[in-house]
Amino acid sequence: MATERTLSIVKPDATRRNLTGAIVDRLEKAGLRVVAQKRIQLTRAQAEQFYGVHKARPFFDSLCKFMTSGPVVVQVLEGENAVAKNREVMGATDPSKAAPGTIRKDFAESIEANSAHGSDSAENAAVEIAFFFSGLELVG
Ligand code: GDP
Repeated sequence: MATERTLSIVKPDATRRNLTGAIVDRLEKAGLRVVAQKRIQLTRAQAEQFYGVHKARPFFDSLCKFMTSGPVVVQVLEGENAVAKNREVMGATDPSKAAPGTIRKDFAESIEANSAHGSDSAENAAVEIAFFFSGLELVG
């Protein structure tokens, strides 16, 4: 498996509880390297665009409110099989279904406030990375 890049977000429930370092630590210990990182406050328009694929879902408005409720840390992770590895370390969307030892099992507050985001495919990772970072900001 070739080296990949994926987009990761430490969500507002986690930044609020000072869990940024704990989450990044787990990702680094799994062999992923942070090649870009910044702490930002999403606007409503940015949240709506980022989660545009979920526009028709009943939780869309609530999700956008949550994602703009405080700062997020957006980061690009690099490593072997990075897309799948990041999702494995995060665990299932619903923390009650997440495997023991995963970020969401240990830190998530709810299916919505679930502490972390990870791209779900290499194609989406490229789009999501370009949404937040310019090429100049990716420093391997
Ligand atoms: P992910 O790839 O595991 O993040 O899951 P999805 O792409 O399906 O959903 C995106 C995000 O929407 C999740 O990480 C949650 O923050 C939120 N979400 C997903 N399903 C639900 C739900 O049933 N209710 C609510 N309130 N939020 C949800």
